[in-house]
Amino acid sequence: MAAKRAQSKGQRSGGTLRLHGKVAVVTGGSRGIGYAIARTLAGEGCSVVITGRDPVTLKKSAAQIRKSVSTQRKPPQIVSQVCDVRDPEAVDALFAEVKNRFGELDILVNNAGISQAPTPVPETSVEMWRNMLDTNLTSVFLCARAALPLMSAGATIINNISAAAKQVFPTFSAYTAAKHGVYGFTLALREELIPRGIRVTALMPGATATEIWQQIMPDAPREQMINVENIAQAVLYAVLLPPEANLSELLVLPTCGSIGAKSSD
Ligand code: NDP
Repeated sequence: MAAKRAQSKGQRSGGTLRLHGKVAVVTGGSRGIGYAIARTLAGEGCSVVITGRDPVTLKKSAAQIRKSVSTQRKPPQIVSQVCDVRDPEAVDALFAEVKNRFGELDILVNNAGISQAPTPVPETSVEMWRNMLDTNLTSVFLCARAALPLMSAGATIINNISAAAKQVFPTFSAYTAAKHGVYGFTLALREELIPRGIRVTALMPGATATEIWQQIMPDAPREQMINVENIAQAVLYAVLLPPEANLSELLVLPTCGSIGAKSSD
């Protein structure tokens, strides 16, 4: 009965919440994988800042997360901030706000991203190419650069890349190039941060059931894809490892293998 009561108050049975007092930023936390990660971290008592471009979705998602943690004895802060991750000034403003409000940052989840419709190289516009690289690659550099002054030993950076970090998907050249690029950045960042004791994880999901598939293949079978909750649990596992252990790569694939003959994820 006592254990049940503790759980209903948002406490884990027999102990405190495992991320109580910690602070996380989840870019693209307004929906999909980012939202699931943000909610899962908050469920462990972590204060979370979620970002995105659409203020309406962002506010709604923050309210939902706030509601989900309202039974915790000391609910964490759930903050939403509009931030286009392609914009260096907006990214700097985001982390300035994090500094003002919290002073430090324990977890950065670089998750915001887009995909594309199948497009052969000759039909790929420069605008589309640049948007893909700005959103999926340069953004990760911008956020890491702005966040690092707030992070110290034991902190964790999770870069949500994709199985496309290592696989090649024909007609998805822009997405594939951006994700290979961010994988390279992740490897370099991890080495650079070893002396500071900051961990860097390359998260590489396969096809996961989110709205992003409207951009890729609207009819793709969502029921065969990974559920966002499973990605969030994998991230939580990485974050909760003791500071001396870095779960360097997290490859999570659907049990059925690839979704679609020419799919990118
Ligand atoms: P969703 O489309 O569901 O969510 C994307 C999120 O990113 C939204 O919150 C969106 O908010 C935000 N976002 C997009 N562009 C920007 C921008 N320029 N600035 C700020 N925020 C932005 O996609 P997923 O949850 O599926 O994808 C999240 C990440 O996971 C992406 O990096 C994706 O590449 C990766 N991934 C996804 C897989 C999948 O199968 N779903 C598989 C492998 C990797 P808003 O539109 O309001 O800005």
